[in-house]
Amino acid sequence: MKRTELVTRYRIAENKRFRLTDVDPADTWKLKSKEQAQKWLEQGVARLSELQDKLYAQNQWAVLLIFQAMDAAGKDGTIKHVMSGVNPQGCEVYSFKSPSAEELNHDFLWRTTKCLPERGRIGIFNRSYYEETLVVRVHPELLDRQKLPPALVTKDLWRERFEDINALERYLTRNGVIVRKFFLHFSKQEQQRRLLKRLEQPEKHWKFSLDDLRERQKWGDYMQAYENMIRHTATDYAPWHVVPADHKWFTRLVVSEVVVHALESLQLNYPKVSPAKRKELAAARTALAINKA
Ligand code: ATP
Ligand code: MG
Repeated sequence: MKRTELVTRYRIAENKRFRLTDVDPADTWKLKSKEQAQKWLEQGVARLSELQDKLYAQNQWAVLLIFQAMDAAGKDGTIKHVMSGVNPQGCEVYSFKSPSAEELNHDFLWRTTKCLPERGRIGIFNRSYYEETLVVRVHPELLDRQKLPPALVTKDLWRERFEDINALERYLTRNGVIVRKFFLHFSKQEQQRRLLKRLEQPEKHWKFSLDDLRERQKWGDYMQAYENMIRHTATDYAPWHVVPADHKWFTRLVVSEVVVHALESLQLNYPKVSPAKRKELAAARTALAINKA
C-alpha cells in the first residue's frame, strides 16, 4: 500500500468531464479499519508539525487550504484534527458566513483577499469565495443583494467568476502561495444521520440550524453546482481534492496526507546561517558561559 495514492486518488486537476458520481462518499481505499488510519494520521500530524516549523522559519512560501462542503460534512473536525500539531502562531483559520453589509459593498473577492496568509504561514478558509459559485448559484436571489450593475449580470456570470477565481489562484501560486482545495463529499443519507445526531445530543444543539434543512432540500442543485465548480476550477496549480466523507476518520487521513505532500513538495529548509552570524553565536555562547561561572 503506497500512502501517496491517497493524495493522487482523489485529486482533480484540469478535468472538464469530472463527475461527482465517480467518487464514492463511503470509499476508504484499501483501509479496513479506523485503527490503521489513526496511526497514519498521528504520523501525518507529527510530520506536518515539523514541516510547518520550517515553513515559518524560512518565511518564503505560504499555504492556503480551502474547505468546502455541505453542512455537517465534517469541515470543523477535519481542520481541528489535521492541524492539531501545528503551532497556532503559524496558522490562521477564517470562516466565511453570509456576507455583511460592508462586504456586499465590495467585489466578491474582497473579503477573502484580506485574509490571505502571509509568507511562512498556513491559512485555512472554512468556506471561501467558492460560495459565490455555490450558495449564490443555488439561490439566485442572493445575487440581487450584491449590487452589481445590471449590465454586468449576463448568462456568462458564472463562467466569468470561475475565470476570475482561476486567475487569482494562478497569481497566488506565482507569488509563492500554494493553494490546495478540498471538497468533503458525503452522502445525503450520512448527512441525515449526522443532523439527527445533532438533535439528539444537547451539547450539539448549538450546531443545529434550520437553514441546514432548507439547504438539504436543494441537495441535487448543490451537487450540480459543486460538480460544475470543480470542472471549471480544478487546475494543475490549484487542484481540488474530492475527499470521501462518510467516514470521518478517512476524511481526516486523506486531508492530512495531501497537506503533508504539498509541504514536502516545497523542499523546505531552515535558513542557512551566514559566517558572520555563526561568529556572533559563538561569541554569545562564550559570553553566556562566562556569566554562568
Ligand atoms: P457550522 O458547521 O457551524 O454549521 P457553517 O460553515 O455551516 O458552520 P454557518 O454559520 O452555518 O457556518 O453558515 C454559513 C452560511 O453562510 C452557509 O450557509 C453559507 O452558504 C453561507 N455563506 C457563506 N458565504 C456566502 C456568500 N458569499 N454568500 C451567501 N452566503 C454565504
Ligand atoms: Mg452551518
